[in-house]
Amino acid sequence: MSQMRLRFAPSPTGPIHVGNAHTMLFNWLWARSQGGTFILRFEDTDQERSRPEWEEVIINEMKWLGLDWDEGPDIGGPYGPYRQMGRLHLYQEYLEKLKAVGAVYPCYCTPEELAAERAEADRKKVAYKYSRRCLRLTEEEKARLEAEGRRPAWRLKVPDGEVITYHDMIRGEISFPTDSISDPILVRSNGIPTYNFTVVVDDITMKITDVVRGEGHISNTPVQILIYRALGVEPPRFAHVSHLLNTERGKISKRKGEMSVTSLREKGILGEALFNYLALLGWTPKGEGREILSKEEIIKEFNIYDVNKAAAVFDEEKLEWMNGVYLRRKSREEFAELALPFVVQAGLITEEEARARWDWFVELMAQVQERVRVLSEVPGLVDFFLKDEIEYDEKAVAKFLTEAIRPFFRRLADRLEEVEWTVPAIEECTRGLMAEMELQPKQAMQPIRVAVTGRTASPPLFDTLYLLGRERAVARLRRWC
Ligand code: GLU
Repeated sequence: MSQMRLRFAPSPTGPIHVGNAHTMLFNWLWARSQGGTFILRFEDTDQERSRPEWEEVIINEMKWLGLDWDEGPDIGGPYGPYRQMGRLHLYQEYLEKLKAVGAVYPCYCTPEELAAERAEADRKKVAYKYSRRCLRLTEEEKARLEAEGRRPAWRLKVPDGEVITYHDMIRGEISFPTDSISDPILVRSNGIPTYNFTVVVDDITMKITDVVRGEGHISNTPVQILIYRALGVEPPRFAHVSHLLNTERGKISKRKGEMSVTSLREKGILGEALFNYLALLGWTPKGEGREILSKEEIIKEFNIYDVNKAAAVFDEEKLEWMNGVYLRRKSREEFAELALPFVVQAGLITEEEARARWDWFVELMAQVQERVRVLSEVPGLVDFFLKDEIEYDEKAVAKFLTEAIRPFFRRLADRLEEVEWTVPAIEECTRGLMAEMELQPKQAMQPIRVAVTGRTASPPLFDTLYLLGRERAVARLRRWC
């Protein structure tokens, strides 16, 4: 293993959005492609919104996507704890270091005072920067404020007139003049540290070498670099992955649950297909037209320096197409296992019933394996096999289930009651009767299909009859006699 150490640091405040999953995947791929260590860490200092249930969802969805980690809140490791609320003593320790070198100052401003400053900046239409009122407080004034019972927040004193430059592994050189940076609060007056501070302390104490995260953090990076500098520690390498766009080139909606990894899984996207699809958003393997790649190939070929900084488009249609490719590559047995929960969820069968007739169930699922792109389509394609009462397409009924077909149906039902129940025997029996009654396939087969399935499209007719089972097939024919 190399000495590279990377971490994924989600806040357990909601489901994983595809955008987060994309960043997380690139982060993981950079670690795995380099033989580095990958760490999961929860940023749970937002006590109102952080929930253990979300931690569980995040862990499950990461595993489902095929990602793993070497250290984390669930498995421990030498640099724990892996939740920020368990690390408050470390933030305190590092705050003391910053105080000792004079890099931070106490700020007693109330939320109202700060709101007034912001409003003033808005009125003047200038970017807000803290006035540094508290930087100028004398020791006496501080003592007086403390005596009033005010607890200070701690701000980093940003140096004046400098330019902070760093090299981003995806975006190249990025510079920020320090004069554009407002002195950030590192620890709030209630003692809870802020993101920019905790992330630096965690990354230092967990010996993180490479930070891969979303482009939303580009503007936080100079602040973090200043904290590293004040602490006398070399910052890690940074890579900021561009946010994904939707097919209209807008932001992907973050409405509750929408476009979450969970919603895609529930729709019947496979983790491995999502892995493959997301890996190709912003990264292109060498060679023409390579789209279906195994996890191993991707790990072997991935390089963060090859990632495109232009935003990639998340196209659900394309993902579904790719998912269909993955579904068709499954064995019939595997496909049936994957489809089973969807069919059960739709209330069409219980798991016990399916397992009790497993060969039949596998056969049934095989009828639609070639046709579906997502597993949630399966129930709608097989429901007529599994329901007692089916819906009939009225137009098809009017067209095919005419008075004239009844004698044929009656005799067919009688014969199907007796025949050996195999596909060839059913076919022979049906074709034999058609010949006797001088019916063309056109005149006979589509009416049978409509009578037993309710619709004009279904898997091959004799397989359909066989899979329906004798009882259902005969009953549905009799219904139209
Ligand atoms: N909790 C932050 C996020 O999910 C972590 C950012 C970072 O990796 O520094 O965006």
